[in-house]
Amino acid sequence: MTTYSIAVLPGDGIGKEVMPEALKVLKRVGQLCGIGFAFRHFDWSCETWLKTGRMMPDDGMAQLAQNDAILLGAVGYPGVPDHLSLWGMLLKIRREFDQYVNLRPVRLLPGIPCPLAGKKPGDVDFWIVRENVEGEYSQIGGRFAEGTPAEGVAQTAIFTRLGTDRILRYAFELARGLGRPHVTSATKSNGLFHSMPYWDERFAAIGRDYPDVRTDQYHIDILAARFVMSPERFDVVVGSNLFGDILSDLGPGMTGTIAVAPSANINPEKAYPSMFEPVHGSAPDIYGQAIANPIGQIWAAAMMLDHLGEAEAGGMILRALSAVLERADAPRTPDMGGSAKTADLGEAIAAALPAS
Ligand code: ATP
Ligand code: MG
Repeated sequence: MTTYSIAVLPGDGIGKEVMPEALKVLKRVGQLCGIGFAFRHFDWSCETWLKTGRMMPDDGMAQLAQNDAILLGAVGYPGVPDHLSLWGMLLKIRREFDQYVNLRPVRLLPGIPCPLAGKKPGDVDFWIVRENVEGEYSQIGGRFAEGTPAEGVAQTAIFTRLGTDRILRYAFELARGLGRPHVTSATKSNGLFHSMPYWDERFAAIGRDYPDVRTDQYHIDILAARFVMSPERFDVVVGSNLFGDILSDLGPGMTGTIAVAPSANINPEKAYPSMFEPVHGSAPDIYGQAIANPIGQIWAAAMMLDHLGEAEAGGMILRALSAVLERADAPRTPDMGGSAKTADLGEAIAAALPAS
């Protein structure tokens, strides 16, 4: 039996409430598929920051590096400035473990009303590949001419050839692997003078290695409109850090509730552990009531299994999820219009896995 060592970081707020449901489902699917999990629990969070002034201990990254994957809840809580909690843990892990791919499915699940009129599951079903470590989100730049009439600020975006090519290549490989050979690139080469023409150039260059994969590209503004007007046309959409960030919240928003969407931060070479988390945050407004929707966290665990090479087990979780949501009497948390508790929904999904 293969046993995977999983670093479990529930983090803040509802991260602590939804994580136990994901572990419950993983344990059950592990029994069914003959997969072992050694869960290593880390309570690093904003509470740690308030007590110690840091999000994780000095050797935190070394501790995480010993695991096959990281399952994360949510990071961030009122009282700790976002940039400290994010750069102190989430972004630190993404960057130091070179998780340069952020992968998110945009998929309408059964039984969840879609804000786009007339769309059914199957109409909205594609993948967003976001560059996760460079691009517009750099710390390069700063203020100039402070205190003078010429005062201003410069924010530099960095697109290296290595960083650009590898994310584009990942998107092409994904499209091919999914048997949906079509990649759409998000650009803005009519507005961003240097970065996006380069991105387009590399997209065309990498695309030449994949003659079997159809390509198209749209400026980010019209692309956002097309997401909403005709989601059926997409298979794999690839974008820079900023564009991918925006699209990868628009996507889940189109599928009814961000609470059900997962997100994977992947180092495809497996030189470092990859990290899997729900799209939603710590949701302080509902924390403590045990009503958070655990589906995003459970789906993130399924993506983790796919990444570990346990696609059969990952697929079982997704089928169980769908089977529960299709039922008229499914336990629904308040964000889905019901009154079920977090654990009711987690329990129902675990129970919907095959019996043996
Ligand atoms: P962050 O900065 O960590 O992303 P945020 O405040 O921007 O946090 P969320 O924490 O995701 O965003 O919360 C946004 C809204 O969605 C909140 O009103 C929250 O209650 C709701 N929400 C988020 N996740 C869930 C969930 N799993 N179940 C139910 N509601 C949720
Ligand atoms: Mg947020």
